[in-house]
Amino acid sequence: MKEIPVNITSKPVQTIKVKQGGCDDHALLAGLLTLEQARTKMLDSIAPITDTTEVATMDAFGYVLAENIVSPVNVPNYKNSAMDGYAIKAADLPATDSKLFKLVGTSWAGKPYAGKVNSNECIRIMTGAKLPDDVDTVIMQEHITLQAENILISTGHKAEQNVRCAGEDIQKGALVLSKGKLINAAEMGLIASLGFAKVSVLRKLKVSFFSTGDELKGVGETLEDGQIFDSNRYTIYGMLQKLNVDINDMGVIPDDRKKIEAAFLEAAERSDVIITSGGVSVGDADYVKETLEKLGQINFWKLAIKPGKPLAFGKVNEAMFLGLPGNPVSVMATYYQLGLPAIQHLSGNQNYTQVIAKARVTEPFYKRPGRLDFQRAIFSYDNNGELIIKGVGMQASHILSGMSLANCFAIIPAESGTVYPGEVIEIQPFEGLI
Ligand code: AMP
Ligand code: MG
Repeated sequence: MKEIPVNITSKPVQTIKVKQGGCDDHALLAGLLTLEQARTKMLDSIAPITDTTEVATMDAFGYVLAENIVSPVNVPNYKNSAMDGYAIKAADLPATDSKLFKLVGTSWAGKPYAGKVNSNECIRIMTGAKLPDDVDTVIMQEHITLQAENILISTGHKAEQNVRCAGEDIQKGALVLSKGKLINAAEMGLIASLGFAKVSVLRKLKVSFFSTGDELKGVGETLEDGQIFDSNRYTIYGMLQKLNVDINDMGVIPDDRKKIEAAFLEAAERSDVIITSGGVSVGDADYVKETLEKLGQINFWKLAIKPGKPLAFGKVNEAMFLGLPGNPVSVMATYYQLGLPAIQHLSGNQNYTQVIAKARVTEPFYKRPGRLDFQRAIFSYDNNGELIIKGVGMQASHILSGMSLANCFAIIPAESGTVYPGEVIEIQPFEGLI
């Protein structure tokens, strides 16, 4: 995984009073875990699944390979033409003057030319069509002149041009894909190009998730005083849909000791991963914390990142438990920075990375030194083609609309204060996260 660097170019650490609310005093940072520490602890404690299953190649998208794929064939498996044109012997290439060749047949893709090609003869050949053994050079059709039954070829061509050799892409016996590789579109095609109708993969993970809290109402219900709609469950469901996992939505669980305990046990029974949001910070939803302490081996972490300070991580019976914070932006930030790498690791994906780019700041990003910030931002290109970045306005962790406006996180190192126009910072495009 790509480490999130903390030493990116920025002005010296400075304490700037900005109206953000909250209290990010340095003194309060003692005892907080850095993102790297939390990520390392998480990944070290997760044993990737090993159960395998076989799927049809057409259904393999999003699965992780359970075995190495070694090629039983050369790809391509015969010498063929890279162009629509005319195939001749290299020895016949005209040296000083254009030369006429007699056209003796055609090699189609899938219907090779079966006859002989003699000296000073040529055949018409299509892209991908097999090259007869007699010829080794292809002249693009745009480069010839048709003269009655003959083909006029000029000078300036190279021997063996426009020909694809057998095994040029993949050699028979080569290791094509390694165990632990996520199957994306290119891998689907690659596996098919070797002729495999089925592939051995690690099974899908089962993920259960629910919200807790008496203040939460479902969409379509009527809000009473002090209540809010449960939005986190929708965000989490959306983020999970990008993965090849079986999703079990368990709804909203009220603040009731027995119901919470039953929900955790049911989730642990039927899933590999349990995700909740809210109820993991200090002074929070009493029963959630109490139940987790009773049922599982759970760590309640305070992270030195913003948004997303409180996070619970551990196990409920055999299931991995991820207790995300309650604030909607914190849910997404902690899921992408910690939850997603953890789920990918558990799924057996050995190559999970997150894309990081560098962009020049065009408007200040207000910040106080202390925590690693993932501010919501928009990257674009300026007139010189340089990547530039600006924030989306309000950066508080309950401003979910900012996540929707943004196309990336602006990563501002823990020790950095406000970042000013002209400085270069690292950004994490949302496209690379999912
Ligand atoms: P908590 O971490 O439970 O103290 O929650 C922090 C903030 O997130 C509070 O303002 C909660 O009302 C809000 N919150 C918690 N759960 C949800 C949810 N499922 N949907 C929307 N907001 C939530
Ligand atoms: Mg709460």
